[in-house]
Amino acid sequence: MEKRVTVLLLEDKVAVISGASRGIGRAIAVACAREGAAIVINYTTNEKAASEVLAAVENIGGKGIVVQADVTVVEDCEKLINAALDNFGKIDILVNNAGITRDNIMARMKPADWHAVINTNLTGAFNCTKAAIRPFLKQKTGGRIINMASIIGLIGGAGQANYAAAKAGLLGMTKSLARELAPRQITVNAIAPGYIDTEMTAVLSENLKESIKKQIPLGRTGSPEDVAALVVFLASKQAAYITGQVIAVDGGLVMN
Ligand code: NAP
Repeated sequence: MEKRVTVLLLEDKVAVISGASRGIGRAIAVACAREGAAIVINYTTNEKAASEVLAAVENIGGKGIVVQADVTVVEDCEKLINAALDNFGKIDILVNNAGITRDNIMARMKPADWHAVINTNLTGAFNCTKAAIRPFLKQKTGGRIINMASIIGLIGGAGQANYAAAKAGLLGMTKSLARELAPRQITVNAIAPGYIDTEMTAVLSENLKESIKKQIPLGRTGSPEDVAALVVFLASKQAAYITGQVIAVDGGLVMN
């Protein structure tokens, strides 16, 4: 009879997670640490929250570091990836999770809000990935890149032209990069969360939240942990044959 053994899915892996101080990024950090990965916890302004994530990681026996870096700044992204290399000797997993919203109907949208959302959600992912690509290739051990998109990038959202454009752009980047890196066994996938309970969605009115909930087939909004579970799977060996995909975590809200 075959013996049942418990294996950690991300044992000895090193994961860099942008925007890991709060919300979905925090849940990803903790979930990856629980599976044995060392975590590079990135934040941009909220040092206290990032330190709390490190404490949560250490509390479950994991290890990690906190690195301040603004993903819109090229040098900061290089610093972030170098911190992984300096502290843990390698990078196996990059999660481009940092994101912001600046919602408004296009007629009232300020150019600054357009640019801020594109710069953070799309160019930020480009900056981090660009900084990580050479180390990934040099290591010759394959790797995982996971981009946090949104169902809004698939279906659009009134008052979210900037965010939808950034997230749809991220999907195009994901598929192109998946093709470029497949020969090196580096997979590149995107996750499209639906409505997830974080500070990002806490600002929505109660009426809007209720009407969104009614449209979700599974009858509830998502938790950051719902998204983190998919990140762990995509980052693991189990997902070695999955690349260039966009997977929704949305309670069935968008079905293709
Ligand atoms: P959140 O709770 O607002 O957290 C945002 C995180 O991004 C924070 O850690 C923040 O750091 C970081 N961040 C923001 N700008 C940054 C920058 N320039 N450089 C580095 N880090 C930066 O957001 P969330 O809801 O967890 O969202 C995480 C990702 O999921 C985003 O890409 C978002 O678009 C996507 N998403 C969320 C939902 C949802 O319903 N919540 C749905 C679909 C997609 P500080 O703490 O330092 O500010």
